[in-house]
Amino acid sequence: MTITAAMPTAKERPRRTRTKRQLSSRPALKLSQLFPSHMDLREPLKAVLVCEDCGTWCPITGMQSRIQKLVPHHTGKAGVADAIHCRGSNRRVEFDMTIVEWRQALADAHTETSSRQPTTVLPKAFSPRTDQTLRARAERTGAVRVADWNAVRKQVGDADEARTQVPHGDRPADGREVPLDTLHPVHPTR
Ligand SMILES: [Zn+2]
Repeated sequence: MTITAAMPTAKERPRRTRTKRQLSSRPALKLSQLFPSHMDLREPLKAVLVCEDCGTWCPITGMQSRIQKLVPHHTGKAGVADAIHCRGSNRRVEFDMTIVEWRQALADAHTETSSRQPTTVLPKAFSPRTDQTLRARAERTGAVRVADWNAVRKQVGDADEARTQVPHGDRPADGREVPLDTLHPVHPTR
């Protein structure tokens, strides 16, 4: 659609958020005094933080006005808890840190947490003996292996020969005999 001069243009609307001009008697919440993880400023116009009074996530209003505050809200979950007006409603929020500072604080807190609770399980260190064996094994060349085999060839041959020796008798001394007779049971009613 092309815009012609005859069409009226919309006036720019005031950017104020139209909430009642009332403030909570509670002291202003300072962002720097809260846990970085208790606020979400990724989208500044949809900033939310955890209300100190009721512990629920609560939007911050007036992001483009002089005063920022928590929107009026009830404590508890909708449809479950009673509709009790939270005393943190309309509480002032003091932006005493920038969004960049908040991101950094959040990252720092995350680093600290992940270093405290490692999610990756590191392999256990080898014992000195195992380490020595593994190193020796890695250092062995083909020629050394052949020499090793030649050194034990006699014992291996003896062991193989001993294995072929069968004890006297045609069946194992301690094993159960396998029944060889076929049974033909007759049902008593026949
Ligand atoms: Zn609240």
